[in-house]
Amino acid sequence: MRRKSILIIMLFIILGMLLGCSINKNNEDNSYSQLNESEDLILGGSNETDSAGNLYEGAGRLQVHFIDVGQGDCTLITCKNEAMLIDGGENDMGTYVQNYLQKQGITKLKYVIGTHPDSDHIGGLDVVIYKFECTNILLSECTKATRTYEDVISSINAKGYNITYPKLGDVYTLGDAIFTVITDKDNDYGENANNYSIGIRLVYGNNSFLFTGDGEEKAENDILSNYTDIKSDVYKLGHHGSSTSNTEAFLNAVSPEYTVISCGEANEYGHPHAEVMNRLRAMGVKVFRTDEQGTIIATSDGNTVTWSCSPSETWKAGERTVNSETLYYDEQAEDEYSGNYILNKSSKKFHKASCEGVNSMSEKNKEISSLDSEKLIEKGYSPCGLCNP
Ligand SMILES: [Zn+2]
Ligand SMILES: [Zn+2]
Repeated sequence: MRRKSILIIMLFIILGMLLGCSINKNNEDNSYSQLNESEDLILGGSNETDSAGNLYEGAGRLQVHFIDVGQGDCTLITCKNEAMLIDGGENDMGTYVQNYLQKQGITKLKYVIGTHPDSDHIGGLDVVIYKFECTNILLSECTKATRTYEDVISSINAKGYNITYPKLGDVYTLGDAIFTVITDKDNDYGENANNYSIGIRLVYGNNSFLFTGDGEEKAENDILSNYTDIKSDVYKLGHHGSSTSNTEAFLNAVSPEYTVISCGEANEYGHPHAEVMNRLRAMGVKVFRTDEQGTIIATSDGNTVTWSCSPSETWKAGERTVNSETLYYDEQAEDEYSGNYILNKSSKKFHKASCEGVNSMSEKNKEISSLDSEKLIEKGYSPCGLCNP
């Protein structure tokens, strides 16, 4: 008897889920058909004042500004006169970001998130934290012994702010929008700073936006193991469109209608990688990218996401540049290298252990490193042009 009633309840739940899915589908279809009609309305609309006198966004709207900071990340989100900033670009972008925010009429940031301590994310945050009234500073627990990181901490201390280390499942509100922390700060990723990135899923009405910083495959898998439903309308691709992130499994679970790539024109990492671009193309996902389109603004009224420009249609992968000579992206070279790198302390090059350059290296210049390539580049090393580590 009991079993029967459980079965009936299950049947209702499944029916409800099916119904829910079909309703969502309708919404999505509607939003697509409305995209082109309302596009003109949004263009240049970020400074308009609505009837309630709100300066930087219309009433009942959420705006997400993917600010073009070259190679790096910087996203401004506004809703009902509240604003938050996720990352602040490289060290030299602080003042640029400050000006951008001021142009939007922003004096106060309810949240500043530094996803992880890499300089292309937190570099400009010292200026932002110093210049704006910041209510909540959310940082990853992963720290880095760099000048960049120290500058951010000094700014926080100078203003007497506290640091919050957000936990998996923490929920915050921004105007009428809410965002949930989808990454677990207690996960151990060893030396890989990217994987400690704070990830959030932002929901406004029926629209959702996903941000994962530079989280790589391991971090993506952990998000998937914690959340069965992370489907989002808009996904800012992980790690600037690198193939170390944006796995097929993760992209399928997110199943975005739109993706945004924040990367610099002709960046040295070859972001976005061809593998990822091919995946997006096969999925029929629309792509926006700051290297081609500059700053991109998405606006949601709770049902429909409209954009400040049309999607990119180039499907172009970045080109990896080594020593000013351009090496075209090679899928083979992108295969994850799991061994240690061999550093040449004198030439400041790093190699795979199997590279023939290692044999001819003098013993006193040789050093074995367990750091990943991104870290080594940050430390001033450049990848060997032969083994392409
Ligand atoms: Zn990055
Ligand atoms: Zn990073």
